[in-house]
Amino acid sequence: MCGIVGYIGEFNALMASMEGLQNLEYRGYDSAGVAFDKNNSIQIYKTKGRVRDLKLKLQETHASLSIGHTRWATHGEANDINAHPHSSRDGRFVLVHNGIIENYQRLKLMYVKEYPFISQTDTEVIVQLIEYFSKEMTVPESIRKTMSLLEGSYACLILDREHLDRIYFIKDKSPLLIGKSTLGMSFSSDITGLMDYANEYMILEDKSFGVVTAKEIELYDVIGLKLSLDFKPISIKKEDIDKHTYTHYMLKEIHEQPMMVRNLIDRYFIKDEVNISKRLLHQIRQSDKINFVACGSSMYASYYAKYYFEKLCGIPCEVFCASELVYSTPLITKRPFFIFFSQSGETADCIAVMKKCKKQGYPTLTITNTKESSMVHLSKYYLDLYAGKEIAVASTKAYTAMIVVSAILARAVHMSKTNIKNNLKAVSLAMEKVLENEEVYKGIAKEIKDSSDAFFIGRGMDYWTSLEAALKLKEIAYIHTEAFPSGELKHGPIALIHKDTPVLAIITQEGTNRITRSNLMETASRGAKTFVISTKDLASLDDDIILPNVAHYLSGLISALVVQLIAYYAALYKNNDIDKPKNLAKSVTVE
Ligand code: GLU
Repeated sequence: MCGIVGYIGEFNALMASMEGLQNLEYRGYDSAGVAFDKNNSIQIYKTKGRVRDLKLKLQETHASLSIGHTRWATHGEANDINAHPHSSRDGRFVLVHNGIIENYQRLKLMYVKEYPFISQTDTEVIVQLIEYFSKEMTVPESIRKTMSLLEGSYACLILDREHLDRIYFIKDKSPLLIGKSTLGMSFSSDITGLMDYANEYMILEDKSFGVVTAKEIELYDVIGLKLSLDFKPISIKKEDIDKHTYTHYMLKEIHEQPMMVRNLIDRYFIKDEVNISKRLLHQIRQSDKINFVACGSSMYASYYAKYYFEKLCGIPCEVFCASELVYSTPLITKRPFFIFFSQSGETADCIAVMKKCKKQGYPTLTITNTKESSMVHLSKYYLDLYAGKEIAVASTKAYTAMIVVSAILARAVHMSKTNIKNNLKAVSLAMEKVLENEEVYKGIAKEIKDSSDAFFIGRGMDYWTSLEAALKLKEIAYIHTEAFPSGELKHGPIALIHKDTPVLAIITQEGTNRITRSNLMETASRGAKTFVISTKDLASLDDDIILPNVAHYLSGLISALVVQLIAYYAALYKNNDIDKPKNLAKSVTVE
């Protein structure tokens, strides 16, 4: 969600920021802007739309420092005026901001009522306050004073026209990283924005404040104590985000899933034994309840994790929607363990819960695809999804990787002899087979693409996959789709079935095969256009998609690919912007 970049150093800073913004585009945004130095002044360019629209407005020039922004509007519509950077009344200070200032109206009234505000954003008050305080204080003091008044979340980069040899920054709750090389310093909201101009990175702590020049970094905490710097090498490379010959990142990422499973086997097994920290396994074994915390697709993957830990390890589990858990306090057992799933590792709602856990001293594990993230930084334990960078906003391979890692972890906690390694190898082969049938998925996508509503049904695991399937169709094909446990239809939702409403049943579990088919028939009798996705051992002759058999507890990994591809092709036929669907962002960094 939104992005922030900055560069100061020997390279052309304008180019560095533009490339950084391009690398952050996948996060989702609605407008873009940059500010840079030219002839001892600060130039600002911004626009509604894409980074390529911004590029059209720019003229080539060399800058020694610059800051850039992709905005995901929270306050004020997405237009040129509200786009960042914003400048102070006298034009001295220029700022980009990610996050939300919750008390912006009160601050305006209290300090800068007479100032002319140009935008509708919550952001503008920050830069006006800096100018206001700078009349009586040094610039660092005025920035720190402003910071002490802000409530909400922010990562800000600030330029000062009087000192065009430095970039100031402040950070609380929204992500911000500093990158370093011998030739300059850079900033970004995530590691992909840093990879072209830095070879080391550091994640900034909340409530930090500082200033960088081309050669030096000064970092302070909220009360002004100097903090030490802790840089790590950057491992991500440009090739990792290459689309190759695929038309969309999403299609590429769907196709990477067989390899992702093989890669996880390689990473987590030494011969037939799972290689995961003994301390982590011990601590999970000691717990009397595992609480899974996640949002969106990650939350749906958590249902599988819950099943694995309950079935294999006999530990009671509960899945929590992170945004709900932030504002409620459920009954916490004596020895709880918290597992967080997040593709980006920056999910604001998860971070908020994690901070609460930390305060209480509860052990936390983050399972994510981004090791250079705030959640990894904050949590006690961490496991990598090793799925390779996921660029498309709609998650595919990170979702299935979460299920795979959960199964491996539960197997290690239980010390069971289940031959999960072979079962996973079989999954990888079955996935390859599933990917060969794209014509069939295209056919179904064509039949449902113009529907205003659609439904997925299933029971148990198939219901969890249905939830993910419905989310995918909503996210990229913009079809209102709901998932129901098939037995629930008669309790209300069946009233929504009319002629030709698509209803897709997922059937991969033996015990629920016949009953789900009956439930589907009930919708067909009311005019629904029905489709069945089943596994070979349970298939009827006229089922639409027949999946290869794999261990029953892993079959959700196979059906996931099918529903991802149906959503992908439905979106493709509708000419939607598949990798960057409207209103959505890749990492949801505001609560
Ligand atoms: N709240 C700010 C705005 O609406 C910043 C949004 C963002 O993080 O992109 O302009």
